[in-house]
Amino acid sequence: MVSRTPDDWNDHAMLDDDLNGFLAILDESPMGISMSRRRDGVIIYVNRRFADLMGDARERFVGTPARQYFSDAGQHAEIVRSLKRDGGLDNVDMAFQRMDGAPIWALLTIRAAVLNGEAVNLAWISDIGERRQSEAQLRRLSMAVEQAPVTVMVTGRDGLIEYVNRAFCRITGFSAGEAIGQNPRLLKSGQVPDEVYRAMWSTLSAGGMWQGELCNRKKDGGLYWEYATISPVRDGSGVITHFLAVKEDITLRKEYESRLRHQASHDALTGLPTRALASDRLWQAIAAAGRSGNMIVVMLVVLDGLDKVNNSLGFKAGDAAIVAFAQRLQALVRHSDTLARLGGNEFLIVVGDIGAPAVAEISALRILDDCRKSYPIDGRNISLAARIGMTVYPSDGADPSVLIRNAHAASLRSEERGGNNFRFFTPRMDEEAQARLRIESGLQSAIERNELDVFYQPIVAAGSREIIGAEALMRWSHPEMGAIAPDRFIPIAESSDLIVPLSNWLLRRACKDARRWRQTLTHFKLAVNFSPRQFRHSDLVQTIVDIMEAEGLPRDCLEVEVTERLLMGESGNAKIILDTMKGFDISISIDDFGTGYSSLSYLQNYQFDTLKIDRSFVREVDVSASARSLACAIIEMARALSMDVVAEGVETREQETILTELGCQSMQGYLFGRPMPAGAFDVLMDR
Ligand code: C2E
Ligand code: MG
Ligand code: MG
Repeated sequence: MVSRTPDDWNDHAMLDDDLNGFLAILDESPMGISMSRRRDGVIIYVNRRFADLMGDARERFVGTPARQYFSDAGQHAEIVRSLKRDGGLDNVDMAFQRMDGAPIWALLTIRAAVLNGEAVNLAWISDIGERRQSEAQLRRLSMAVEQAPVTVMVTGRDGLIEYVNRAFCRITGFSAGEAIGQNPRLLKSGQVPDEVYRAMWSTLSAGGMWQGELCNRKKDGGLYWEYATISPVRDGSGVITHFLAVKEDITLRKEYESRLRHQASHDALTGLPTRALASDRLWQAIAAAGRSGNMIVVMLVVLDGLDKVNNSLGFKAGDAAIVAFAQRLQALVRHSDTLARLGGNEFLIVVGDIGAPAVAEISALRILDDCRKSYPIDGRNISLAARIGMTVYPSDGADPSVLIRNAHAASLRSEERGGNNFRFFTPRMDEEAQARLRIESGLQSAIERNELDVFYQPIVAAGSREIIGAEALMRWSHPEMGAIAPDRFIPIAESSDLIVPLSNWLLRRACKDARRWRQTLTHFKLAVNFSPRQFRHSDLVQTIVDIMEAEGLPRDCLEVEVTERLLMGESGNAKIILDTMKGFDISISIDDFGTGYSSLSYLQNYQFDTLKIDRSFVREVDVSASARSLACAIIEMARALSMDVVAEGVETREQETILTELGCQSMQGYLFGRPMPAGAFDVLMDR
């Protein structure tokens, strides 16, 4: 074959001159075009693009066998076969070899034709190297994403999941099928504050990237932590089409961190908070008390007798004693209070949000009592003791270090009183506490020592001032402290079950006395006060009925006085007990009305016979118009609910007149008679 000029036709011998115009057009084609003879496969024509693609001057191709440009001889043979069979070939991906030996991917189409009587194959090739490259790249990329150790999730603009990788499925337990089409809320644990999600969405919708830690929930309900990077994905024109979330599982790290934090803030032996954490909690309690106006009591509990255990049984037993002691304390503190171990034999209790130090005093006594019980350690029963120093926020100090120091000082001073004792930091508070203790221990033996008495205060009909009944009021004269008012000792008796024997004693005595007065006055009523604490005992009604029967007093003679405290408390049984009393013909009155919640619903839900207007209203009734309006409203309301009204604490004629005008039926107060011994009341009744 003779070589030709580049712009010339490759083989004029084979091609008709008429074709020149047509071939010039082919030369402009963006596709590579070649023509080869069918009989021997020799190339007779290539266009410019073909020569470019295959990397040489086009005359170099003419006269060469087409076969040599196929990278794979097998593939070439296959093409020859299908050409024979079908006469053509459409869009087949094919690897060719350029003149310089480099491979090139192209899409091949072949048609059979006859040119000047010669059968030829007309072939078109278009370069698909770029497309194949990007496809391969995409394949590699998606394989990498699919197999990445981190979770990858793609969501659409509508927020629904469109893709999740294998790590996602492994970590969450959801299969791709279960996740796709769902909202990522699927994983929400409820442990992440809503603000975090809000911040995330405001960042993302503004086109920014969000990074942060999330606690999510797996399909099986288990929680896991991940560090998420979420970013918007934009299309070619910059519009956000998707969101890409790449997340790293950090559960182990979080667990480790929290273990470290716990170790730093908790005592290794007892698992209790250390001093540092206790101080933090105390700060929190102080902040809460600042809002509520309540008090905090800080108690330092010192475990005594540990040296003895260490010396006689060894340190292991000593440690066991500390743990047993800590467990006992833990069982005694409220859930909301903090118990900490300061070190050695010292424990700290923060009793937060209480109304009066006396509340803490009661827990201190309970702790001292309970801690004295023996501890089974190493197969032996060991006895330990404790003492407690107490200090009060805000009166004794305003910050944790001062309060802890005070409690410490108080605990040292409690040592002077011997074991099993407590002491307040402030002398005045301490004296009060000690007085309360004396009252409590004195009350325990007051009945046997005959120190109690019952006084009676007449209740009179409005207008006529005729006696219609009496309220029985407890009196106590302490051998050293003298007469102690019921306002002082009743609350102490109420804080333990001591109120029960005292109240039973009073009822028995009052029934005995009232029997005489009932004989003089057939409709005589005996009013007796009962504490909420007594309603915790289910045998209350039976006890009352038994006593009345033993003393021979008809049951309709008794009026049980309760306060709103009973109805406000959680004593769910109160209503049942009150209803039972009514069933026994015992009357019920609501005492000190107006000092508690005075909720109308109480009056509606309970069938009270009598309402006693508290002294604080009566006192003002002749001087203050608003007190008068209130008294008037209470009386009207009681009348509407068919209750009798007793005005308590009537001291002046003016009060008497006004209350009578307002429609009050009965009265009680110094104006008609002070509380007096039974003998004096006898005289009054006999007149
Ligand atoms: P209370 O049931 O409201 O009893 C009325 C109190 O008001 C009595 O005080 C009485 O002496 C006082 N009082 C009556 N009229 C006047 C007056 O005109 N002016 C003034 N300033 N005061 C008057 P007391 O006897 O000191 O009793 C105080 C509270 O102690 C009683 O209030 C009652 O809640 C409680 N209490 C007394 N005895 C018992 C008892 O046996 N059991 C229970 N659970 N509580 C009792
Ligand atoms: Mg009363
Ligand atoms: Mg009262």
